[in-house]
Amino acid sequence: MCGIVGYIGEKNAQNFLISGLKRLEYRGYDSAGIVTLDEKGKATLLRAKGKIANLEEKLAKAKRDDHIGIGHTRWATHGEPSETNAHPHKAGPIYLVHNGIIENYKELKAELSDFEFQSETDTEVLAALINSFYQDGKYPLANAVVQALKLVKGTYGIAVASEFAPEEIVVARSGSPLVIGVGHDETLVASDASALLGHTKRAIYLNDGEVAVIGKNSIEIKTLNAEPVSAKVEEIETNLAAIQKGGYDHFLLKEIMEQPESLTETLRGRVNAKEGTVHLGGPRLSVEELRKIRHLLIVGCGTAYHAGLLASYYIEQFTPEVTVEVVIASEYRYRSAYIPEDSVALIVSQSGETADTLACLREIKKQGVRTVGIVNAIGSTIAREVDGGTYVHVGPEISVASTKAFTSQVIAMVMFGLTIAQAKGVKGTMLRLYVEEIARLPEAIRSVLETVPKTVKRIAEKHAKYEHAIYLGRDTAYPAAMEGALKLKEVSYVDANAYAFGELKHGPLALIDDRFFEVVLLPKGVLYEKAVSNIEEVLARGGHMVVVTNVTDFDLPVEDVILIDAKVEKFAPLLMNLVSQLLAYYMTVCRGLNVDQPRNLAKSVTVE
Ligand code: GLU
Repeated sequence: MCGIVGYIGEKNAQNFLISGLKRLEYRGYDSAGIVTLDEKGKATLLRAKGKIANLEEKLAKAKRDDHIGIGHTRWATHGEPSETNAHPHKAGPIYLVHNGIIENYKELKAELSDFEFQSETDTEVLAALINSFYQDGKYPLANAVVQALKLVKGTYGIAVASEFAPEEIVVARSGSPLVIGVGHDETLVASDASALLGHTKRAIYLNDGEVAVIGKNSIEIKTLNAEPVSAKVEEIETNLAAIQKGGYDHFLLKEIMEQPESLTETLRGRVNAKEGTVHLGGPRLSVEELRKIRHLLIVGCGTAYHAGLLASYYIEQFTPEVTVEVVIASEYRYRSAYIPEDSVALIVSQSGETADTLACLREIKKQGVRTVGIVNAIGSTIAREVDGGTYVHVGPEISVASTKAFTSQVIAMVMFGLTIAQAKGVKGTMLRLYVEEIARLPEAIRSVLETVPKTVKRIAEKHAKYEHAIYLGRDTAYPAAMEGALKLKEVSYVDANAYAFGELKHGPLALIDDRFFEVVLLPKGVLYEKAVSNIEEVLARGGHMVVVTNVTDFDLPVEDVILIDAKVEKFAPLLMNLVSQLLAYYMTVCRGLNVDQPRNLAKSVTVE
């Protein structure tokens, strides 16, 4: 689920592997390791629990000028984070790094009774299996890898090296990304193109079911069934500046603050404020096809799910004849839900690699339903497998907690809803008002980000010792509250939950006491009075409320009020979510925690 790197060329392999792994650090990991081979195949294997700095300490005593090697950052799925469980795993002359899960590892392990397993991982079983087919180099490494993979159930991105073949690396993927970087007299491997930046801009994205044998100047790709694949070399669009902190202490703060620009990129060429229309080419649906849509299914996990929920509140206002259903991918993939005719499914994932979302995409396609991706990572698996899509174009999101992607996912989906309404000939000023607000949103975000951080920081300092928080909102503020609570819990480890305000007296009101503080998102407009009554109910029970609102004359005696002063009303919950993002950030800093890589989490969830 985390990072893979590989190098074969003329430069120092250890240097590339370490710098490449550092680029992938943001994905979250618990241990790391590298192996390099000299010309005769003598291996130097280094592994360490914890941060890459620990690996570097070992490296200081084991520097080699080797020109081939593979490396890994592990996010443990089978076996605790430890040096023994860290990759690369060795089996005879074979070294293997693996992202993903070998689901049938127990059965395979039972068949490999001669092998002395050192670790508790599923990965080591695959290494042993490859080794059993390799027979000390009697067969080509790629053949052994293919034979082993044919027996494997599960997901993998792998890189394999052998002491008997120090001139090649074999890589393969199924459900976990792998990119091959094409350089001059060198070939690189990574699970994420950002590790290749500064070395090459030319990349080949491997597809599921493909295996590649790479040398210093050669790349040969085949399917598992030995059919040759002609590789498509693509340009990596990201640049180095986009994956650096650019003067900020943390990526999380950088990514919150760059939302005026990232949303502008989402809107570029797609919004015509003068005409009051939006134009999306990527979904590849004709006006006729758009007109037929009666049902939208939105599929996502975590933040992407919340983005879908928030977008659904808007979309259902545009065209009453389109129903919108938003589902959690990990649940939906195992349900036998009926998808009505004339449906389109929006598949939402920042990384475009989310395992559960990808599985849903494949299920939905099997039913013949049209799919549209709402994805950030260009060239990712979901982006390639959907029938059409709208990239959100927010640039690399490095911090594990998603911020700028959320804002742009919501607006990308709203734009898709507007596109349907336009095609259906919805009349009146309503659509125009939405489009105008969308066009103004980047500036509104800028003005909020210029004015609120100091206040939010002060409030975060005041609340940093709380272990429990409740986020509350009604209507569009409810999904925004859900996202706020998720942000707080994932980075600050404060136990935060969101409730629809109307649900409070059906249970959660019992919680209100001095252990909790409440964050209330209170936009002007629909249900405002009802939400104010709910605030009274919490006040009457001694709640410790922070109210985030765009109502300038809000005057209930709550503990803190954060005023959002921006000329955007319909999307006010998105602006309030900026406050939630900043609150999560500053609380985490106050609590002295790892902002960009929260414990137990990974950026791109490529296992289910
Ligand atoms: N399942 C493997 C393990 O636990 C790979 C984990 C990963 O994707 O980092 O070692």
